[in-house]
Amino acid sequence: MYDADRQEALRLISDAKAILGVTHVAPDGDAIGSLLGLGLLLRQLGKSKVTLACDDGVPEKYRFLPGAADVVRSTRGRFDLILALDCSDERRCGRVFRAASTGRAPVINIDHHVTNTEYGEVNIVLPDTVATTESLFRLMRAWGLELDPDLASCLLTGLVTDTLCFRTANVTPEVMRVAAELMKGGADLSDITARTVNRRPYDSIRFWGALLETVQLDDRVVSVHSSAASRRGSGYPANGDASVVSLLITAQEADIAVSFVETDEGKVEVSFRAKPGFDVSGIALDLGGGGHRVASGCTVEDPLDPTRNRVMEMVKRARREQLARQ
Ligand code: 5GP
Ligand code: MN
Repeated sequence: MYDADRQEALRLISDAKAILGVTHVAPDGDAIGSLLGLGLLLRQLGKSKVTLACDDGVPEKYRFLPGAADVVRSTRGRFDLILALDCSDERRCGRVFRAASTGRAPVINIDHHVTNTEYGEVNIVLPDTVATTESLFRLMRAWGLELDPDLASCLLTGLVTDTLCFRTANVTPEVMRVAAELMKGGADLSDITARTVNRRPYDSIRFWGALLETVQLDDRVVSVHSSAASRRGSGYPANGDASVVSLLITAQEADIAVSFVETDEGKVEVSFRAKPGFDVSGIALDLGGGGHRVASGCTVEDPLDPTRNRVMEMVKRARREQLARQ
């Protein structure tokens, strides 16, 4: 199945002239690394009309990656083919994708989320890879393409950021072998780590302060929350929880961590983390989002307090059911 899909993907690419690559809104290192890595792979395949797009652009900390300055936030014109990277559903691909996919262009969906809805004409979804960039590395090999230092840097960035620097439970000897190949290919692991996992704006640390004032532990579920006003008060300009949920799940008394952050539009961004053995992907999927067993998220279009009550009940119930099955 996977063999046929990757051959079909290569055929669609060969036949296409104008190609659009897109990645998810609120992009992380795997989103940007896979988008820029795709651009380099398409160049090796002789494609010259390639547009790389993301609704939210490239966050400042990923602008060191080669090609980052070429990523656009909106597009015009027609495309013969769209490749979506690291997006578990179409909504996650954002406005650029919606605008381009109203035409007849086929979609190749390349991803590693277990909740992927297989929305493409071709779906290369590999939940056993730790990052979409690892999926791209496998495609690179299958398509007979070569590593160079720029490509290696983009691909290693996805591996480093999605595994929190090789600390997650899905890191296997094979992942370390891929990482070693990328390092041999010219990627600088310590530089990438210093620029991504080990770097954040001071404002985000102030925002952690506001969030941690609200921390609660309830039935081995640790949680924090923030209103939009509280986030603004801390000076943190972006949406989301500034990754505080990854800190919360280190609490030894917790099996699951949840953060609730109200956006300026009055929605609530919810992020989940689980200790290995627990699964928060289904909860996020039920709420219209998605993700992985131990890291998932969603956006809920209800006010903060009722959302917190409803989601905390769902999480505690899911935890009890999962414990009963263990
Ligand atoms: P984070 O908590 O770091 O924002 O996201 C953790 C994981 O959940 C990531 O793999 C991310 O792709 C996924 N995720 C977060 N928010 C959403 C969402 O609103 N929709 C979907 N489909 N996935 C999400
Ligand atoms: Mn990813």
